[in-house]
Amino acid sequence: MDCLFCKIVDGEIPARKLYEDDQVIAFHDIAAQAPVHFLVIPKKHIATLHDLNEEHDKALAGHILLTAQRLAAAQGCQDGFRVVMNCNDLGGQTVNHIHMHVLGQRQMHWPPG
Ligand code: 5GP
Repeated sequence: MDCLFCKIVDGEIPARKLYEDDQVIAFHDIAAQAPVHFLVIPKKHIATLHDLNEEHDKALAGHILLTAQRLAAAQGCQDGFRVVMNCNDLGGQTVNHIHMHVLGQRQMHWPPG
């Protein structure tokens, strides 16, 4: 399968990894939009949020969120941070392997673009 983030999972494409376990990896975004900007992704290929499976992926979805929380704190974001998951073209998703963006260490604004 020709998936950029699967290639990062497999080590075929290098990434600045922050964390890895049997289910997820986290790595710095290549085009950081904030002083802290990393992505938490499942190791298994799930294309979009629509493809998360209620029966099989509940624990994984929670693990992604809790990994984001823990790493945000470790990256000095105790005062606040933002998580973003874009879904499909209309949601601004450009890589079709789900990923949670974690952005911090600057003031965030609303609404997002
Ligand atoms: P999306 O637009 O799909 O929500 O986010 C995809 C993110 O992946 C973007 O923020 C983009 O900068 C990041 N990205 C794209 N290609 C690479 C890459 O090869 N390495 C890393 N570390 N990040 C990437």
